Amino acid sequence: MELKLINVSKIYKGKKKNEEVVAVKDFNLSINKKEFVVFVGPSGCGKSTTLRMIAGLEDISKGELYMDGELMNKVEPKFRNVAMVFQNYALYPHMTAYQNMAFGLKNMHIAKDEIDKRINQAVKILDIEHLLHRKPKAMSGGERQRVALGRAIVRTPRLFLLDEPLSNLDAKLRAQMRVEITKLYEKLDTPFIYVTHDQVEAMTMGTIIVVMRKGIIQQIDRPEALYDFPKNRFVAGFIGTPQMNFYEVTIKKIRQSLQIVLPENNVLLVALKDLKKIKDKYLDGQEHKAILGIRPEHIQIVESADKDTFQVETSICENLGSETLVYADFALGKDLNIRESTSSIVIKRYERDVFLAKQKIFIKFGKKKIHLFSNDEKEETIYKTEDGETSNNNKPSLNVLSEEVIEESSK
Ligand code: ADP
Ligand code: MG
Repeated sequence: MELKLINVSKIYKGKKKNEEVVAVKDFNLSINKKEFVVFVGPSGCGKSTTLRMIAGLEDISKGELYMDGELMNKVEPKFRNVAMVFQNYALYPHMTAYQNMAFGLKNMHIAKDEIDKRINQAVKILDIEHLLHRKPKAMSGGERQRVALGRAIVRTPRLFLLDEPLSNLDAKLRAQMRVEITKLYEKLDTPFIYVTHDQVEAMTMGTIIVVMRKGIIQQIDRPEALYDFPKNRFVAGFIGTPQMNFYEVTIKKIRQSLQIVLPENNVLLVALKDLKKIKDKYLDGQEHKAILGIRPEHIQIVESADKDTFQVETSICENLGSETLVYADFALGKDLNIRESTSSIVIKRYERDVFLAKQKIFIKFGKKKIHLFSNDEKEETIYKTEDGETSNNNKPSLNVLSEEVIEESSK
């Protein structure tokens, strides 16, 4: 299966006359083997719209959609050979699981033997043989969702499209179904596109993650690459819990090091060789504004001061059982509201320890774990991207993506 979207856009008519709502802008994606693609982003960023355009449930306003080399823009949904699973699984209430799964196939005039064969296979894969003759009202939410997946599997589609299929389930079942959908993906020979607003689902399930914001792709990458090398502050903040800490800083190259001035004039000196390659314009020996990001798990609490430590003041400590979140602030002796402070710090510890409020502690940043972003509206990484170019938000960084999608959007 080969899927390619080239500058796909969706423009809705707005409420006012001549008003246009751009729901998706210049979406570029290309996969040429089995992948578990996740579209992730906050509510309203255009995930469902993109999925529905792939399914054919929504017209494509601009751009091209190809499946196995064939232009699909004008092909009716039923001829696209894709299967879609929604949040509200929409099983027919008066039909048994068997009948629900068989229904679409009967409409396609598939022989009874073949229908039975496919359903038998599907229920084995999903472990729902015992549900075959039950109606939806006699099933739990998770069981219904499995039947809905079964109904998608028996159609032997070339592509599965899933739109937030787990968001109606409680947390425990969601975690369990996450694993089951991943297993299902591994058993089948078909790519999945999975829509979610949940970054944990994205990170645990995806082989490729597409991070979206306001209709625009922010980054397409493997999960580890998104975590290690976010292209902008939005992606950095969206992936990972608790969120990455961000500070307005000034940076300046001094000999072979970068001097970073943090809140309350705390100075961090990092050897350039310990950082990813920084764009040249920031290394001219002048002072530059930037945004520093560091994840809570990359800050250490240490016993005593040395040249790399900062003294900070604790506010609260949350014990989560396996880990502890320590909230602190660079500002000492001030009565700060941690939510409003631009110098607050969240530290994730894998030890169970207790810090009282207003305690002075020493912390240390993992120098190799520092992220730096431009202090302007783009908030892009100031690290050089692999190809050494200035980054373009809409440009995929994966080599699985073919050349032509990389071209600037046709206006
Ligand atoms: P997501 O699935 O990421 O939450 P959607 O794809 O549903 O987001 O919606 C993207 C944007 O398009 C939203 O701003 C939404 O309000 C808008 N939108 C969706 N459907 C329509 C429609 N039929 N008419 C006008 N605007 C729409
Ligand atoms: Mg949606």
